[in-house]
Amino acid sequence: MKKSVFLFSVMSIFVASCGKNSNNKQESTSDFLVDRKYEIIDAPSKGLNDRISSLVFHYTALSQEKSLEVLKKGGVSAHWLIPESGNSIYKLVAEDKRSYHAGISSWKRRTDLNDTSVGVEIVGLGYKCKNNPQSDQCPKVEKIWFQFTDDQIKMIVNLGKDIQQRYKIDPLCIVGHSDIAIGRKLDPGPYFPWKKLAEKGVGAWVTEQEIEKQLNLIQANISGNISDLTIQSRLYELGYDNRNPNFTNKYIENKLTIHIYPEFNLPNSKIKSWKNIPFTRLDLLDILNNYGNNYTTAWFDTTLSNNAIDAFLMHFLPEDYLSNKKIDNKRILATIQALLIKYPNRAKSSCGY
Ligand SMILES: [Zn+2]
Repeated sequence: MKKSVFLFSVMSIFVASCGKNSNNKQESTSDFLVDRKYEIIDAPSKGLNDRISSLVFHYTALSQEKSLEVLKKGGVSAHWLIPESGNSIYKLVAEDKRSYHAGISSWKRRTDLNDTSVGVEIVGLGYKCKNNPQSDQCPKVEKIWFQFTDDQIKMIVNLGKDIQQRYKIDPLCIVGHSDIAIGRKLDPGPYFPWKKLAEKGVGAWVTEQEIEKQLNLIQANISGNISDLTIQSRLYELGYDNRNPNFTNKYIENKLTIHIYPEFNLPNSKIKSWKNIPFTRLDLLDILNNYGNNYTTAWFDTTLSNNAIDAFLMHFLPEDYLSNKKIDNKRILATIQALLIKYPNRAKSSCGY
């Protein structure tokens, strides 16, 4: 009995080492740490895209020293940290790894943006409260916002361009934390240099002339006041997740399609998917607006939608946001129309979809 066990062990060692000697796969492919029992045949497919499909900007709301300490120790992080001054940027997490910067987040129907984005933190305190400098809890009108330094703006533009070019990120997928976590986050705030970034080909921006052109078209083609439903659905179209949380994206897309796109229900309609419906068309906008003026829907959440308006103003109309005045629905709609027409990305690339 003892003898046969001994023999078996010797045989096993012999077989194992034999296998190893006659098989060079382990040495030739550094990707594999175990001895493979199969061959790999290269057969490239065209069905792929980059895992990185969006870029998210933040400010840390901490001093430089504290920012580095907090972002390095775990829990929260970012791929990059831009300091207050100079020309050196901290690399905290390799871009092929997931960094914990976005938290609960959603943009263009995609959730958990940590999976698919590069996160850039910028050292900055954000804002202080006019009547209570020790607290960060105060209404919008009492917030005094800090500006970014000239060095930071240069670094933001250079790093942003670098990341955008490496992953070919769609302009409407370059966003702030406030865009993807509406009501929960306010960074990178109304002084973030979105306009300067767009001038270098990074991210989306429309000029006053482009907005004015859409405003004139809206005034000539849309009857009645601009309904809340119109603004809510256009913010949703742009990327904001202002859905009533009880409804799925599919439910809302179906509702919008059935009620607003007249040809959708025709038997010979070529339109099979919500993604192909040209909702920037003025005649469809008019139907949508009439519907919103005549019917009450619960498709979108009112509080989330108001938070989305604030996030939208901070990003695309920062002077309007800082004025603390109520901004006319027509101006908001004209700006969204100008953006959706200038960056018609929905069907092709909605941040990776
Ligand atoms: Zn943030």
